[in-house]
Amino acid sequence: MSTIIGHTKQRKELCELAQTDKLPSALIFSGLNGIGKNLVARELARQLLCDVRGESPQGGCGTCRSCRLFETGTHPDIHNLQFGGEEGATVDDVRTTLEKMSLKPFMGGKKIAIFNDADEISIVGANTILKSLEEPRPDTYFILVLSNPSRLPTTILSRCQRFFFDRLTADEIREIIALKGIKEISEALTLLADGSAASLDSLQAQSEMWEDVRNVVERAWMGDQPCIARAAQEWGAAKTQLKERLAFLRTTIRQRLLATRTDPNAVAVWGVALQNALDAEYLTLERHVNPTLVILKTLQSCDNSLASTYRITPRSRPSLGEMLLDGR
Ligand SMILES: [Zn+2]
Repeated sequence: MSTIIGHTKQRKELCELAQTDKLPSALIFSGLNGIGKNLVARELARQLLCDVRGESPQGGCGTCRSCRLFETGTHPDIHNLQFGGEEGATVDDVRTTLEKMSLKPFMGGKKIAIFNDADEISIVGANTILKSLEEPRPDTYFILVLSNPSRLPTTILSRCQRFFFDRLTADEIREIIALKGIKEISEALTLLADGSAASLDSLQAQSEMWEDVRNVVERAWMGDQPCIARAAQEWGAAKTQLKERLAFLRTTIRQRLLATRTDPNAVAVWGVALQNALDAEYLTLERHVNPTLVILKTLQSCDNSLASTYRITPRSRPSLGEMLLDGR
């Protein structure tokens, strides 16, 4: 079970409702994307399914048969549907799940369906769900996890009890980053998450990209030309990540500029490199210039051994944009 950071109040309330058998059968968890609503839904589901009778502990006992099946993703009485995205659940998927939900629980306890990104559900899908929400079987629970309740028909909203989840605080995000084993918690990374937008998994992927960019910039500073060439090839080819990677590159270079501002040689290098990184974003994203070439030039300008070339009048050097667009 993933550790959940934050949302203490909502989790306590849900836990008590489950323990006292007062939990409504249709729930909406709403709040920004990526703050852990689905984790809370799973925590609640595991508690509801746990074999411990009476006051089952928050998130379940973790050791009974039910909890173990839940952890391995093989519990027969929990159903997850993911809406939205290209692989999003179809109306047929909804019907299949509702049919399963209408059967008696296999394990003799409760049945739970978690609908993720439920605000992406189609009108037909919503109407299909509506019937089950109106006439729920005993001991069945529907948890609709979403960010934008206004996209759901009011007929559904009125059938569900809503729980609101707040954006995470900067401290909570730091805690999550620490838990996920990401080294050197970067202020920039925390800002990137902004208490909301990035899901934690994408935060993890971003942190790997972040590390990669920082390593390459460090190698570039030391004049590692093979590393520069390799990175330019790889980054230039990974088109879907280009925008993000170039933003990391710019931020990394800016951080280096700030960190070395008492060293005029370094300032000269990073100053030019930063201008190039800004140009690189414009050239590749707006003007569709070959990204490999642009990244190569930008990384080459991070090379410390070239510092003396630009030390005196770094501003007089043409920008990357001027060089590439004018064919110089
Ligand atoms: Zn248990």
